[in-house]
Amino acid sequence: MSDYHDYGEVLDAVMERVRSHIGEGRVADYIPELARVDPDEFGFSVATVDGDLYSVGDHSGTRFSMQSITKVFTLALVMSRSGDSVWKRVHREPSGTSFNSLYQLEFESGVPRNPMINPGALIVTDQLLTDTGDAVGALGELLCAETGDPDLHADNLVARSEDEHGDRNRALAYLMSSFGNMHNPVPDVLDHYFRQCAITVSCEELARAGLLLARHGRRADGSQLLSRSDARRIMAVMLTCGTYDAAGEFAYRVGLPCKSGVGGGILAIVPGRCSVAAWGPGLDSKGNSATAALALEAFTDITNCSVF
Ligand code: GLU
Repeated sequence: MSDYHDYGEVLDAVMERVRSHIGEGRVADYIPELARVDPDEFGFSVATVDGDLYSVGDHSGTRFSMQSITKVFTLALVMSRSGDSVWKRVHREPSGTSFNSLYQLEFESGVPRNPMINPGALIVTDQLLTDTGDAVGALGELLCAETGDPDLHADNLVARSEDEHGDRNRALAYLMSSFGNMHNPVPDVLDHYFRQCAITVSCEELARAGLLLARHGRRADGSQLLSRSDARRIMAVMLTCGTYDAAGEFAYRVGLPCKSGVGGGILAIVPGRCSVAAWGPGLDSKGNSATAALALEAFTDITNCSVF
């Protein structure tokens, strides 16, 4: 890998590759409030460990629903507080089933495959609730501090919409509870989980937040939230499990630890170098943003920045 990149030029080249694809894919509508987003929006930001921020696209400053991308940050908080004990409650293997599938839980005694899919994230949120008494509050504090934006918050309409259409998440949580793998009342965990997913960020903010991992666990204020090993482990889980049932495809095309969300955002980390956030609301058949995936693939093609 070369050490120097003119990120301004790189981002212009990424934009050239993506421009004619903006608007592709299908906006998630199983949470009705998410379907109200304009599919033609696109943003792409790179935050470097040296403190520079580069953006391209008309909407790199537009906030969108973080959704599953929050799963990376709740896991970071839980690992920083409870260490390895969370791995007694959730595995670290790709699931091979959809992010909200009940199937595997039944024959693996209520222990989800990984923390990047809904049942695993519900376990992590449950643990964070136990550790802090306010999971979504702890997440909000972390994100505000790492982005430098004190007013980050959940979109209440999206949170309510998730709750109203959240029977599958309820089913997952109660099934895990029936196996004794929920430590707090299920309605409390779900309330925190729905609000956590509904937090909105822009690409610029998300790229800055992702520096936590790019800096190997060091926070914006210079303190260490995670050990270097735990930061590496979280990125390993992102690489193998962070993009639904397309993690193999992402490793092949992008070659970076990534986490996507049904709001159309994808966070990618170049360890030791930068954090990249891409957003386009239209999703492909696997649930990943079509344009964000294309933009990340172009980014690693052009820069050759990849973990491989
Ligand atoms: N809040 C969404 C859900 O629970 C998150 C899904 C996602 O982004 O993968 O269905």
